[in-house]
Amino acid sequence: MRSQANCPFCSIDAASIVFADEFIFAFWDGYPVSAGHLLIVPRRHVADWGDLEEQERAAVTS
Ligand SMILES: [Zn+2]
Repeated sequence: MRSQANCPFCSIDAASIVFADEFIFAFWDGYPVSAGHLLIVPRRHVADWGDLEEQERAAVTS
């Protein structure tokens, strides 16, 4: 993952990551809106869902 200075997800503690593949990584939310809330983040920095490639969207939804 290429870091961006203002990105909160670039400084996630690697030990908190519970799943990762070439497109995404996932970690438990530190401030969950509900129990078991998991955050799934694409590795590539994009502005919104529509900017993701098909493979990246598939990785998020799977
Ligand atoms: Zn980032």
